[in-house]
Amino acid sequence: MDEVRRQLEELLFSSVEDVVVKSVEVTETVVRGEAQSTVRLAACPGCGCRSGRIHGSYLRFPRDLPAAGKFVVVALRVRRFVCAEESCPRRTLVEQVPGLTRRFGRRTERLRSTLASVGLALAGRAGARMAAIFGAPVSRNTLLRLVTSLPEPPIAAPRVVGVDEYAQRRGRI
Ligand SMILES: [Zn+2]
Repeated sequence: MDEVRRQLEELLFSSVEDVVVKSVEVTETVVRGEAQSTVRLAACPGCGCRSGRIHGSYLRFPRDLPAAGKFVVVALRVRRFVCAEESCPRRTLVEQVPGLTRRFGRRTERLRSTLASVGLALAGRAGARMAAIFGAPVSRNTLLRLVTSLPEPPIAAPRVVGVDEYAQRRGRI
């Protein structure tokens, strides 16, 4: 079973560090993998303090990219930590798994970026139709929201041409 589990970890979470697969369940339409982070400390988004004091845990179910024609759902057990800084107004914090989820995210990062690419290429209505065909149904509004939340591409700073340089250039023509 350990060998199978390692292969599943490689398949499902090859780009994510510190995550172990606890179990996998395959039905006719869904692959459901239960996973858990193994990091010992989580950073508080309020004060930046790192804490290892666990308050509890619960399951999140981010939707993932489909595999072998089945929906993939990650049952991710996330832990709630108690902030170690007493003056911090945020008493507890929920761990995030970089590369897999973000705060309030209902999709894994790879599904999110795939849908954003589809939205960029095809826009709302056609993009939503395409996403449904490859097994990741999404509304056109959500698709457009994923596109608008992409970071802006860097804009090259315009080069300032001085008066002398301008004149020299003209002189050369
Ligand atoms: Zn804090």
